[in-house]
Amino acid sequence: MQILDGNLVSKALKANIKIEVDNLKIQGVKTPHLAAILVGADGASMTYVGAKEKDCKEVGFDSTVLRFDADISENDLLAEIEKINNNDSIDGLIVQLPLPKHINEKKITETINWKKDVDGFHPMNVGLMFKGLPCYLPATPFGIIKLLEYYQIETAGKSCVVIGRSDIVGKPMSILMLQKNCTVTICHSKTKNLTELTQQADIVIAALGIPEFLKKEMVKEGAIVIDVGISRVNDASSAKGYSLKGDVDFANVSPKCSYITPVPGGVGPMTRVGLMLNTLEAVKRK
Ligand code: NAP
Repeated sequence: MQILDGNLVSKALKANIKIEVDNLKIQGVKTPHLAAILVGADGASMTYVGAKEKDCKEVGFDSTVLRFDADISENDLLAEIEKINNNDSIDGLIVQLPLPKHINEKKITETINWKKDVDGFHPMNVGLMFKGLPCYLPATPFGIIKLLEYYQIETAGKSCVVIGRSDIVGKPMSILMLQKNCTVTICHSKTKNLTELTQQADIVIAALGIPEFLKKEMVKEGAIVIDVGISRVNDASSAKGYSLKGDVDFANVSPKCSYITPVPGGVGPMTRVGLMLNTLEAVKRK
């Protein structure tokens, strides 16, 4: 069994991005600039945005975080997005989700200029991805593809089960695995024979958000298992009072696998690098 080490791979990819950014600066091309909008004070969202700021610094990007109170109106937020759309110094924009209930996420996503939509959530980018055309891929599936490529894992002809069909992970992941020539099955909460399907799969990608859902009897010997899940689980032994758990029962599943991602240190850091790659691409396209 080999661990697919997201920390190691993301470090290597970030070092490459830094080299490209330094070259852009030497050539007098602009420094990539990522803006993030954070609404409210949700602890996890603040942590994610903080991590993105840190990544930008590491690879030499400029970054701006625009913070708004949770009671900002939808119209005011849309106006802020338009301002960034029209600001040539900013190459990429992300709006940290989830947003407060009174704000329509769909409207927000569709208002971001798709050329700055480095999260890859705008329908234009989704359509381009579906067609296999150049676009911004959603960061998590993009990061997973990069991880598989780094370890030179052959995907052609393999059967792949994706558990979860969200717009940001499951659905795009299934399209990308199809483009990698896998035979793809998508499972969701209404799937009846899930265990039967995962038992047959060469690759299982678990993205459902239920801690330790995938058990050892659900995977076949030699399977490749990618664990996207991140759940905070109460843990009195941790100083934070919680620990992070993936969707895979790692201790019992990992001995059966040929490759597996840990949580933390697997898909999480690759998602972060996916966003950095998209932001660099935004400048290159200019
Ligand atoms: P989501 O929007 O809540 O979607 C969950 C999906 O799982 C849904 O499609 C749901 O089916 C399906 N599901 C729920 N219970 C199921 C069950 N018992 N059997 C089969 N399918 C089931 O979640 P998400 O945004 O895709 O995120 C999934 C997990 O990945 C979460 O833990 C999230 O925190 C994590 N995540 C991690 C990263 C990272 O960087 N590592 C990035 C994004 C998300 P229905 O459609 O039928 O409801």
